[in-house]
Amino acid sequence: MDDNRHNDQNDDINEKKETSSANDSDKSGDYEDVCFICRRPESKAGKMFRLPNHICVCDDCMHKTMDTVSQFDYQGLLNQPPTDYGNGGNNRFPNISFVNLADLQGDGGIPNKQKIRKKKPSGDKPEIDIKNIMPPHKIKAKLDEYVVGQEHAKKVMSVAVYNHYKRVATGTMDDIEIEKSNMLMIGPTGCGKTYLVKTLARLLDVPLAITDATSLTEAGYIGDDIESVVSKLLAAADNDVERAERGIIFIDEIDKIAKKRNTTSRDVSGESVQQGMLKLLEGAEVEVPVGANSKNAMVPLATVNTRNILFICGGAFPDLEDIIKQRLNKQTSIGYTAQLRDRYDKEKNILSHVTVEDIKKFGMIPEFIGRLPVIFTLEGLSKDMMVRILSEPKNAILKQYQKLLELDEVQLEFDPGALEAIAEKAMEKDTGARALRAIIEEFMLDIMYEVPKDDNIGRVTITKEYIEGTGGPVIDIRSNSLEHPDRLNVIGNGNAGAQA
Ligand code: ADP
Repeated sequence: MDDNRHNDQNDDINEKKETSSANDSDKSGDYEDVCFICRRPESKAGKMFRLPNHICVCDDCMHKTMDTVSQFDYQGLLNQPPTDYGNGGNNRFPNISFVNLADLQGDGGIPNKQKIRKKKPSGDKPEIDIKNIMPPHKIKAKLDEYVVGQEHAKKVMSVAVYNHYKRVATGTMDDIEIEKSNMLMIGPTGCGKTYLVKTLARLLDVPLAITDATSLTEAGYIGDDIESVVSKLLAAADNDVERAERGIIFIDEIDKIAKKRNTTSRDVSGESVQQGMLKLLEGAEVEVPVGANSKNAMVPLATVNTRNILFICGGAFPDLEDIIKQRLNKQTSIGYTAQLRDRYDKEKNILSHVTVEDIKKFGMIPEFIGRLPVIFTLEGLSKDMMVRILSEPKNAILKQYQKLLELDEVQLEFDPGALEAIAEKAMEKDTGARALRAIIEEFMLDIMYEVPKDDNIGRVTITKEYIEGTGGPVIDIRSNSLEHPDRLNVIGNGNAGAQA
């Protein structure tokens, strides 16, 4: 083997000598093989397979080629199991079998990204037991641990999810079929829509796929096919079709697929997407590609039934408030009950008055809304909620930083005033709780950089002045902080951490 390789290399050298005599001084070690397919050199692509005619193919490309070849085996034409040999007639190529390279190399290394988990025999199928489904109050209590506020949303979701899984567990109850409780959640950006769904999926231990409606287009146009959402769920369920069929699909930015107004061209990313989603929402058998986003001859397909998949759509619906206000003002300015025209203009939680009519007016088609029977709104975050989000949830941002510094044996504390200052800054940005992390990252940078430098630091207290840029954090030296909790060292002005 080594000898062969040596000869190959010599051949290489001879060739190169012929083509460029100027490189006479080059030694054999200066050249490396290049993969015939991906053109990567051996130093990058790893050890090469050497084929006749000095063709080299890297390990990756070789595996891909073999994978592709074996996937054409749709009708079982090529790889018949050994027991099939000789059963006359069934086997079209009885003596041909494709070799799995990984078997030869003994590392079993071909990824099973494109393989589907085998269905379990129906006998020992793990049915969802009604008694094991978490009741709504328990679901809500769990959500409370992570999500601050949004009481109404949490309550509605807990009940809807409970009913949904009861429906899954019973199949059909006599003649009464329970309807699917797909949801539509409306709320400003950063108020916790995605977070609620993620938390829910985790505590129910079901697979979750999160997609963005803006990337979806009608089949055949540039963009993701609508069915790609199911393919994502299948991937999230480790290609286990049965698990995927009980999962949750969250489609964010659903307001972006509203019907376009005043358009004469075909609305391939708006109304058509809504139309295309109807059958998924209702429940249909869809063929989805496994391990890829689009269907083509190279990827195997799996059939997934969306009947028991819970769809949750979310969006900010930015102009919806105006539509609601218009309707409310119209109602109240007529007749005996007439009130001031601008009565609702100043109301903060105007979204909570939403009706199906308003959403239709916004541009969602009736058939689409009809398939999302549970509609609820989330409130915009107030300053108090922001403060609570900083410190209360189980994995609150502040707790995360405290944990990080704890590993350096440093205590991190926040003055109540500091929390309010952070919340105020976040409110200005108008991106909900998302702004909190950005602000904290900004001022924690100096602290995270400086603290590990000095072993004596025992405690850091973030003050309101530090957040507002008029002072610095309070640093306590280790030995003193333990016995005399007086603050030793107050560093001034804004970027004080840098001087610590
Ligand atoms: P959106 O409503 O735009 O989907 P997200 O759910 O993505 O917003 O929220 C962004 C981040 O803000 C989340 O990852 C979460 O950490 C935090 N967050 C938002 N709202 C809340 C809330 N009510 N309670 C706790 N954390 C929240």
